[in-house]
Order: sequence, then C-alpha cells, then structure tokens
Amino acid sequence: RPILLWFRRDLRLSDHPALDAAARSGRPVIPVFVQDEVVDMLGAAPKWRLGLGVEAFCDSLAQLGSRLILRKGDALGALQQLIDETGAGAVWWTRQYDPDQIARDTRVKSALQEAGLDARSFHGHLLFEPWDVATGQGKFYQVYTPFWRAVRARDTGARLVPPRELRAPATWPRSDALASWEMGRAMGRGAAIVRPYLHIGEGAAQKRLAEFAHTRIDSYSAERDRMDRDATSGLSENLTYGEISPRALWDAGARAMAEGKAGAETFLKEVVWREFAYHLVYHTPHITHESWRAGWETFPWQDETDTTLQWKQGRTGIEIVDAAMRELYVTGRMHNRARMLVGSYLTKHMMTHWRVGQRWFEECLIDWDPAANAMGWQWVAGSGPDASPYFRIFNPDTQADKFDPKRHYRTRWVAELSAAPPQTALSFFDACPRSWQMDPKARYPAPVVELATGRQRALSAYEHRKTA
Ligand code: FAD
Repeated sequence: RPILLWFRRDLRLSDHPALDAAARSGRPVIPVFVQDEVVDMLGAAPKWRLGLGVEAFCDSLAQLGSRLILRKGDALGALQQLIDETGAGAVWWTRQYDPDQIARDTRVKSALQEAGLDARSFHGHLLFEPWDVATGQGKFYQVYTPFWRAVRARDTGARLVPPRELRAPATWPRSDALASWEMGRAMGRGAAIVRPYLHIGEGAAQKRLAEFAHTRIDSYSAERDRMDRDATSGLSENLTYGEISPRALWDAGARAMAEGKAGAETFLKEVVWREFAYHLVYHTPHITHESWRAGWETFPWQDETDTTLQWKQGRTGIEIVDAAMRELYVTGRMHNRARMLVGSYLTKHMMTHWRVGQRWFEECLIDWDPAANAMGWQWVAGSGPDASPYFRIFNPDTQADKFDPKRHYRTRWVAELSAAPPQTALSFFDACPRSWQMDPKARYPAPVVELATGRQRALSAYEHRKTA
C-alpha cells in the first residue's frame, strides 16, 4: 500500500529522513502538499514565497520520476480523501514545533492512528529535538549560552543523500493546479519588484551555502553586523521552507572551523540561535503570542497608531530605521542588526507593543519563521527569555555610525537622502501601495519621536513598572 508523504516546511530531497525512509521502503510513494488552515494564515510575503518554493519542489520531484499532489482544505480531510482515493496505508511527515502546527499534527495523527493507519512523524527541521536538550535538573534552557554549551559538541548524525528514485503509484491521484491557488494574491506591493531578491529552491540554497562557506564565512564574525555589506549566509529564506537542512549548515560550519576559518564558530552559534528559538517555542508556546516574562502584558505599550504606519512606511525620520523598513518592503528581508534597531525604536522610543512589529514582519518577511520571529521580537522588547533588558536602549544614530559608517546602506534605501538616489531606493516607491501616497521628492520627515525624548519616556515607564 502506498505511503502518503505529506510535505510542509521541508521542501527538499537531500537530508530528508522521512523521504529517505519512504524511498527505502520500496513502496509506492505519493508526495502531497495541502494548502490548509496553517498555510492560509500566513502573511502575504511568506505565503507567496511558499508558493514559489512549492513550484520549485514540484520540479525537483519530477527528477525522481515523482510528482507533488496538491490539495486544498482542512489537512485531515484532504489526507483522508487521498487515503480513500489511493488506498494508502501510511502518512509520514517531518515534525514541526510551533503551536499551530503541533495542534494540527496532533489532531491528524490521532485521527489517522484511530483509523488504523501508520501515521508517523520524522526528525529533520532541527539539529536537536527540543526535548533532547535539557539542563542538569531535567528542565528546558531559558538562557542561550548554556544551551549552546550543551549542544556544541553533539553529534548531529550523518547527512542523508537524496534518493535516486521514488516508486510511483499505479495511478496518480488528481492534483490541483498551483496557479489556481493564487498564493501571491495578497502581495499588493508588486511581487515583480521583490522577485529578483529571492533564492528559491534546494539548488539555489546549496549554491548559496557553498559560496558562503568558500568566501564569506572566514570574515563572518568581524563583518556580520555591517548593514552595508553582504556578509551573512542569507540562508534563513531557505531554512524556513526546509529547502536546505540545518545539518547542511552545521556541517559546512564545522568543516570551515576545522580548516581554521575565523568566523566559523560564530556562524555555528547563530545556527544554534535558531535551535534555541524552537526549544523555547516548544517548551513555552505562549512566546508566540504573549509576553514571555510575567508582568509585561500590563506594560503601557500602545497598539497600532498613525505613527505605526510611518514606521511601516520607513518615514520615522530616523535614517537607519527607515532604510531598514524600506529594505524589508522591497526585498522581503532585513539585516539582523537592522531588525534589532527597528524593533528597539518601535518598542522603546515609540512605546509600541512588540506584537505590532511581529505582525508586520510576519506580513513582509520572506524568511518569516514562527519561532525566530517571536523570539527576536521578545528579545528586542525585553519581555523574552535571555532578552536584551528593556533599559538597554539602542541609539540608532550611534549604531548607524558603527555599522553603516559610510552611509551606503542608508543611501541604498532612502531616496530622500540623496540628490541622485540609486534605483534600489527608488524601487521602494514603485512597491508602495497607492494609498500610502509616498513621494520620493518629498522632504525627509522630522523624527516621529526624538531620540532623547523617546529614550527618557521609555526609561520612566520602565521605572514606573518596576515600582508599580
Ligand atoms: P546568518 O547570519 O547567515 O545566520 C545563519 C542562520 O542562523 C540564519 O539563516 C538563521 O537560521 C540562524 N540565525 C541567525 N541569527 C539568528 C537569530 N538571531 N535568531 C534565530 N536564528 C538566527 N530569523 C528568521 O529566520 N525568521 C524570522 O522571522 C526572524 N525574525 C526576526 C525578528 C527580529 C525582531 C529579530 C531581531 C531577528 C529575527 N530573525 C529571524 C533572526 C535573524 O535576523 C535572521 O535569522 C537573520 O537575519 C537571517 O539572515 P542570514 O540567513 O543571512 O543569517
């Protein structure tokens, strides 16, 4: 009886334990992707990017003589329907760890098992299972450094090569046409503008990793905070859809370390930040939607206001913040240091709830990841585990001087700052919805919140909270 291989955020052939096991079983394998409620909830950019990833993955499977069957609707219903149509006896998938996917997968697993099917989940999204890393007292880690120490020397196992072929079923079930799903429908901001910045699919991811390991990893620790340079791997886009395995990054980092490349250990530590984010999300799922630390839900943060819109539009009057927000809108990405700066300005100077920022990132980031985004926002806001304390407030101007010393990053993204703006900065205006009424020739705005005033206000609110 065939195996239904249910793909979600694991769109790759290499180092894929569930796919490897299915191929080795010798049974017919029917790969399936369901546009279910979890996919429906995605923001505009990640949903669009997922659709492009699915399209590329259809081509990858074709190389194995296989196909990706596309179905829409409730995941359990769609899988049951396929079981009826194909006589499949098993449904296998790669485990996910965020609360929405855990809830869905638990429901699917118990219903299928009750019906006597072999419903099974496999490892593959992470290096280490969240429950396999524990403190001496058997608890989960709340602080990154001891987590890193606990895992850095662990064996991550051997990487799996892609199967040479997948046995096809006698007849293929019907599949939806991907185009009919219109996964890019909500991308009002001109998908054609964002498209050139993407690296879609497993081949592109592997190329990107090889190139990074060959060139930039050596200087990674020295350069990774420079917003004006392309000094990082750029692989978050591929990791989030599982187009590359974390083990591939780990192996490349470990090899570079053995070769004495200076930045390799720092790179491995960043990969482990992703693991830590999932460790936290698994053990404390509320991190995705409420302040992780007790007492922060009553902090006097504002919800969406008119000034929040200015933050989204890159019109706060703080150059580095605006450059970053426009980079996000045009490319679907933002430099890590810039994420920290825009987050700090929003939650501290603008005293706005971190959830507002989290939601906007979820809408715009092509590398949106439920765990890294939640942890990142709570880190910035000071409400999360092992977070930057609220009273440590970044000065965006000082940070800009340090990490964009020649103003290249700011010039690249903020047209109003130069007499002859580059195409990158101008493309933001092409991407903007008309309702925003943005004009590249308009005068650059004054700060929505002055740095000194905003800092003082945030610190007083923090002091008041402590004594309240
Ligand atoms: P590299 O520097 O090359 O690092 C390699 C890999 O390590 C990354 O691809 C990523 O998987 C992991 N990594 C690096 N830094 C972090 C980190 N701080 N936290 C978790 N994992 C990390 N990352 C996402 O993938 N998706 C998100 O939605 C996301 N939202 C964020 C929101 C905020 C407010 C902040 C401060 C950070 C967020 N990050 C998020 C983490 C980080 O900014 C990105 O992972 C990084 O910029 C990706 O670029 P890169 O692939 O070139 O990373």
